[in-house]
Amino acid sequence: MKMSKLFVQTLREYPSDAEVISHKMLVRAGYIRKLTSGVYNFLPLMWKVLKKIENIIREEMDAAGAQELLMPFVQPKELWEESGRWEAYGKELMRLKDRHDRIMCLGPTHEEVITSIARDGLKSYKQLPVNLYQIQSKFRDEVRPRYGLLRGREFIMKDAYSFDIDEAGLDKEYQNMAEAYKKIFKRCGLDTKMVQSDSGAIGGSVSHEFMVITDTDAGENDVFYCNECDYSANSNHAVSKLPQTITDGHEYFNKKEIVDTPNTHTIEELCKFLNIPSTIILKTLVYIIDKKPVLALIRADKNIEETKLMNVFGGIDIRIASSAEIAELMSENGFDAVPGFIGPFDGIPIVVDETVKDMKNFVVGINQTDKHMVGANLNDLGLKEFNYKDIRLVEEGDYCPQCGKPLFVTKGIEVGNIFKLGTKYSKPMNAVYTDENGKSHPYIMGCYGIGVTRTAAAAVEAHHDEFGIKWPISIAPYHVVVIPVSTNDKLQMECAEKIYNELLAQGVEVVLDDRDERAGVKFKDADLIGFPYRITVGKTISDGLVECKVRETGELTTVTPDSAVKNIVDIVKNI
Ligand code: ATP
Ligand code: MG
Repeated sequence: MKMSKLFVQTLREYPSDAEVISHKMLVRAGYIRKLTSGVYNFLPLMWKVLKKIENIIREEMDAAGAQELLMPFVQPKELWEESGRWEAYGKELMRLKDRHDRIMCLGPTHEEVITSIARDGLKSYKQLPVNLYQIQSKFRDEVRPRYGLLRGREFIMKDAYSFDIDEAGLDKEYQNMAEAYKKIFKRCGLDTKMVQSDSGAIGGSVSHEFMVITDTDAGENDVFYCNECDYSANSNHAVSKLPQTITDGHEYFNKKEIVDTPNTHTIEELCKFLNIPSTIILKTLVYIIDKKPVLALIRADKNIEETKLMNVFGGIDIRIASSAEIAELMSENGFDAVPGFIGPFDGIPIVVDETVKDMKNFVVGINQTDKHMVGANLNDLGLKEFNYKDIRLVEEGDYCPQCGKPLFVTKGIEVGNIFKLGTKYSKPMNAVYTDENGKSHPYIMGCYGIGVTRTAAAAVEAHHDEFGIKWPISIAPYHVVVIPVSTNDKLQMECAEKIYNELLAQGVEVVLDDRDERAGVKFKDADLIGFPYRITVGKTISDGLVECKVRETGELTTVTPDSAVKNIVDIVKNI
């Protein structure tokens, strides 16, 4: 490819609406252009990167025994009603109507469609196990599309679905996919951590995410990990042991009583006023889960993990209640307390965090402004119904649940996940096989996703410097750029073209920067676009030498044109 013909426009500046490096660089280097919020054009350079990632995925999925197919992007409402997700999926599901008033949606994922395919075709145990996958565009009307390709609304995903006759089969396929994923990400030049993760409202399910660890804002997930053992988990799923602390308030309160605590709206103010540690305060928080209020009780020095709390109710949406909602809840229940003085009461779902089990003689709100009960115990509160659950957010400094050593936290970009679905779709959709005795059973399913476009962006997050992208060679749009310093110099241009033609002939993906531009401009573009190798043909060509630069390390060598070609050909052969 000649640079003069390559469809690419690099920009002088980063786009003003971009917050993270991959978004900034992919726009500036001419890989992507925004069409509308969360929807991008993948320009020729980007499309080459994406096709390379897709091919790595294809090769490893095929090698792992999965079979590729392609399902439609538009899906009928009826199928989603069968699984119960037409209602449950919420606003991320983009719904539309065709000319006959039939209601459809844009596929955000394909469990329903694949289950309907399996139901039609997989009737006997003899046909199982099967793993089917596709690489397809998805549409999710994300609340907050941001960070360019990292969280788009339209994006490309590889999604695979396995069908087994039993749990043992699923376990085996799950492991098989985990191994395939490790190979895929390694081949894409990405270090990933496989971490335990939340599997939503489906009780008992297992899932893992593959995270690219990063210290930038692009990492939307907190990952807790232990350095002594293999424990690592997304914060939405992490559990921990806590350091010993004072959880019995008997030294502070020798009897249960209601005391005045004027203007103590925060835990800090209450601690200061009563001169006590926060570990003997029981905190009551009001959340709204799927539009209904619930109370969450936890030791006051700890915080709630919202996904854990939401899962207790199988919800799909959670947020902390506003002051107005709290005021309404209070008045409906005959109280008039303001936030800071809320306590548990009957008639509302209550979840009590495990930390409360150890608490005795504590301080608690009683739904009266400027008052708290001190020296209280949970059974003093007369609650008829509540649930103990772990709804606590793990914090750095907590201890590993497996080996007891300290936990650390880091940020991660989720590039893929694997998920044991069990019969979540096969049962409601009546997707069954018959066993050797003619009895029918729902398939035991798994699903396995990789964000293709997110993987490309994560690669930029992981591989760049101040000058631009440093693509791992396996997914770079081109392997090498050949730059004649002066296109008007006949010798330089002839030699550059010779190198270019030889590389092309040997299957190397090469760009010849034949533009009549200053060398500095061409070097800058080369760094920004991120060609892994650069061969510069300048004045030294009169001594029979060219300069080679490795983008990753910045290493420069001066060699003959022949050895420059040979080196690159050898590297490309070994990708
Ligand atoms: P997230 O928690 O980041 O929203 P998810 O759990 O919704 O991800 P899945 O439904 O399991 O993701 O999709 C599989 C993969 O698709 C994810 O691991 C991720 O790499 C990718 N993906 C999901 N949502 C997006 C998005 N909005 N933009 C780009 N890639 C995405
Ligand atoms: Mg999501």
